[in-house]
Amino acid sequence: MAKPLSIRENVCLRAFNTFQFDVRARYFVSVRKVSELMAALLWAKERNLDPLILGGGSNLVLVDQVNTLVIHIAKMGKYWRDVEGDRATLILGAGENWHDAVLYAAAANYRGIENLALIPGTVGAAPVQNIGAYGVELGDTLESLLALDCETGELVELTNPDCRFSYRDSLFKHRPDRYIILEVSLRLCRSKPFSLGYGELRNYFAQPEGALTPLTVAQGVMAIRRRKLPDPPQLPNAGSFFKNPEVSMPTWQRLRSEFPGIVGYPGTHKVKLAAAWMIDQCGWKGFRNERVGVHNRQALVLVNHARGTGRDILALADQIRSAVWARFGVALDIEPRVYPQGREGRE
Ligand code: FAD
Ligand code: NAP
Repeated sequence: MAKPLSIRENVCLRAFNTFQFDVRARYFVSVRKVSELMAALLWAKERNLDPLILGGGSNLVLVDQVNTLVIHIAKMGKYWRDVEGDRATLILGAGENWHDAVLYAAAANYRGIENLALIPGTVGAAPVQNIGAYGVELGDTLESLLALDCETGELVELTNPDCRFSYRDSLFKHRPDRYIILEVSLRLCRSKPFSLGYGELRNYFAQPEGALTPLTVAQGVMAIRRRKLPDPPQLPNAGSFFKNPEVSMPTWQRLRSEFPGIVGYPGTHKVKLAAAWMIDQCGWKGFRNERVGVHNRQALVLVNHARGTGRDILALADQIRSAVWARFGVALDIEPRVYPQGREGRE
């Protein structure tokens, strides 16, 4: 088969990952249509390559040169469907920018995703991580999604339960590259209550809820996030580097008696620990060496100060995990995808 014209060789990925690691892709293609995706997959198969699917590169640690075909998903489009009473379904192409989609829904006065404003990346990657912030997760509103099943070569519709969403987790994290997400459907509503339980949001919105709109809530979230979180173009990072660990009730009781200040949020069966608090207690908040470091306002965020590499970040992550393990006996899991797999130490 003739090489599709759009496949490029030896492409620098610095602008395609928010850590700004200076690695190269052996081959790179941006696809806007299902037919282009199919052609790219066939091209890779003929060369015995397992492609890497890429959105905005904001949840990715590129450790080495990427010795395969990178398929950048750029399938655009957004429209409303099933508008009934105060509910409607928003259909979004996988290549759409997630934050723009949040503002689009909010501007139409639909509620459900306003707390997820300013999360970088694409719509297609949002189900992978089951993106979440301020007590809201994508899985709360996702109705279904359209994906290409790379095992069967067929287009499939997966319902919300099919996606097996849990805390910052989904089916897609466990089967990376089996499903390529093409379109996401969100069921939104004009009347559901806002979710303002997180302290910083509650404080920000001192006014009664009646005065709020999805857009003002999204703007509040944006203001809070800008105060605290580093902006990747200014200070390259991939958001939270570690997941907040969930522990059993007996473990929580042990930790609380040993460390009275420990921060945890009890759920039905488990307690979610604030990993940032533990990292801070181990003295890592604000740490930096000549290349990489830990952000000084949010200890969960590792940053690339100057020409750091994926290996530098993983080495730092390993030191932090060891320190937290030694002090608290709690294991921290890395949240972003490490590529190639198996370079993340104890993961
Ligand atoms: P990428 O990094 O490109 O890809 C991530 C994974 O998804 C990879 O495994 C990739 O192969 C796969 N993938 C990408 N597109 C597709 C597709 N179409 N089909 C199948 N698989 C695909 N996350 C949160 O949950 N909450 C936050 O509040 C949050 N805040 C952040 C703040 C900052 C400053 C940064 C840098 C990151 C933050 N993140 C947050 C993490 C990140 O933004 C999200 O995980 C986001 O969904 C990643 O999107 P992306 O397009 O950049 O994905
Ligand atoms: P924060 O509000 O200072 O909270 C610190 C930690 O405590 C968070 O990890 C949060 O858990 C938890 N928490 C706080 N209030 C809670 C409540 N009422 N109920 C349950 N858990 C509570 O966190 P932040 O760093 O400023 O981030 C704000 C939000 O953006 C958080 O939801 C965070 O997850 C999200 N965020 C995510 C990323 C990422 O890359 N994944 C990056 C930046 C921000 P949760 O993390 O479970 O919410």
